[in-house]
Amino acid sequence: MSAIFKKGEVITNDYFTGTAYLEMLVPEGAEYNCPIGNVTFEPGARNNWHTHDGGQILLVTSGEGYYQEEGKPAQKLQTGDVVTIPADLKHWHGATKDSEFVHLAITTNPQKGGTNWLEPVSDAHYNAL
Ligand code: MN
Repeated sequence: MSAIFKKGEVITNDYFTGTAYLEMLVPEGAEYNCPIGNVTFEPGARNNWHTHDGGQILLVTSGEGYYQEEGKPAQKLQTGDVVTIPADLKHWHGATKDSEFVHLAITTNPQKGGTNWLEPVSDAHYNAL
């Protein structure tokens, strides 16, 4: 599997299950007001449930993964998929069990705030997908 953008460094915060990497392609800052990160999830890795104060757009560049909004079935994602996530909507995203998953994460309306991390996606929930 050939990567398009730099993989970056392992994410070391407590808001992911499994191993994921982040490379900020466009840093936070007032000049462009449009942070863009390249996120790589190893198979089985996913982020916690969370919300974004200003929303988020995901552009899938490689592999297979999931996106799930609270109260709805998980959506399977593959290369080329685009996900638009409204502000304050509880959701998570990550890889499938058997595939790496890579997406660009664009922070929309960053002036409205950041990401609010919630509980992990449990193994029981994830393994039932
Ligand atoms: Mn998100």
